[in-house]
Amino acid sequence: MIPRPDLRPPFGELGGAAPEELFSGIPTPAYVIDEAALVKNGEILKRLSDKTGCRILLAQKAFSNYDFYPILSRYLHGTEASGLYETRLGYEKMPGKETHVFSAAFREEEFAGITRYADHIVFNSIGQLRKFGERAKNAGLEVGLRLNPECSTQEGHAIYDPCAPGSRLGVTKARWDEEMTLDLFSILDGVHFHTLCEQDSDALETTLRALEKSFGEWLPFMKWINLGGGHHVTRPGYDLERLERLIRETREKWEVEVYLEPGEAVALNAGYFLTRVLDVVENAGVRIAILDGSAACHMPDVIEMPYLPPLYGAEAAGKDGFLYRLAGPTCLAGDVIGDYAFPEKLKENDLLVFGDMAIYTTCKNNTFNGMPLPSIWKRDRTGTFSKIRAFGYEDFRDRLGSKE
Ligand SMILES: *Cc1c(COP(=O)(O)O)cnc(C)c1O
Repeated sequence: MIPRPDLRPPFGELGGAAPEELFSGIPTPAYVIDEAALVKNGEILKRLSDKTGCRILLAQKAFSNYDFYPILSRYLHGTEASGLYETRLGYEKMPGKETHVFSAAFREEEFAGITRYADHIVFNSIGQLRKFGERAKNAGLEVGLRLNPECSTQEGHAIYDPCAPGSRLGVTKARWDEEMTLDLFSILDGVHFHTLCEQDSDALETTLRALEKSFGEWLPFMKWINLGGGHHVTRPGYDLERLERLIRETREKWEVEVYLEPGEAVALNAGYFLTRVLDVVENAGVRIAILDGSAACHMPDVIEMPYLPPLYGAEAAGKDGFLYRLAGPTCLAGDVIGDYAFPEKLKENDLLVFGDMAIYTTCKNNTFNGMPLPSIWKRDRTGTFSKIRAFGYEDFRDRLGSKE
């Protein structure tokens, strides 16, 4: 396969080089995380916080490859976690920075650990605030409550819409009016919402208006407001000016500190997934290339969201080129990445390079079907590759039994 040079994101950092040469020393399947791309994102985020005074946290559920935390910590104010383990990881691997945690519900057994590692905690319900709020406060944490502005701004991806009717995420105005007491209110340092997914700042503006309508009278009593993640800040074409204006307005109107906690935007377009063709089969006129990488195991969002990931030197299947369906080696019939058009025929051992593979991949993969976990590599700012971690049979085995 002869790839055409592709200088757009997410492949801009590769400068149009031939993958076989560029990645020659890396066994597949493998993730490669591109430090130069992380730095580029970091610079955009740092400029935003310098200009507006907001504070920006890494949402670790999207990207938690802590070997890159030292470099990210130059640009960010800390980490955001979804539970005890991520809280501890942020505390240990981004030392001296802020450690925030939100969970839909905290467990009694983990709470001592949470208060040890976190400095900000956000509760999802007034019941959880009642149960843990005072304890968190006494342990020196700042306490927040997640609000649900009941304002859906996204279409198509219901799985990522925390504002859908019946959602468990965040306190609605009805619950607030019914359950909030002065005692509980007096514990609060801040409020939080997370309602966006890969969205621009117009959706944030709509959401802020909805928040103001439901909860505006309470916001001036807060120290901070956390606008969650889903801000696609580092995507080319994102309306940064509007975001800057909204952050300034929010800070001034309610006299609060503003936090953002993007995951995607921190590591957007900052990784590649390398996989090779194992076989090509044909069925009913469809040519299918079976790869040593799997959608179900190694890029589960491709199936969950679903979406077609960018592929170096190929296009989404159209009229031109050689068409292939790319699929994983597992026995799941639906382990399909998608249909692509190539300038040349695919053959056994060809290397394929998927883009934008740093987020929701290494922290979300699995060993279903006994599939190997891809190794994780770093491409540093000079273009040099180094192996961060490789996995073997034991990593598969040891999660499943007694280690006897
Ligand atoms: C998922 C999540 C984020 C990060 O979302 P991105 O879409 O990756 O930016 C931030 N905060 C909370 C509470 C989340 O659940």
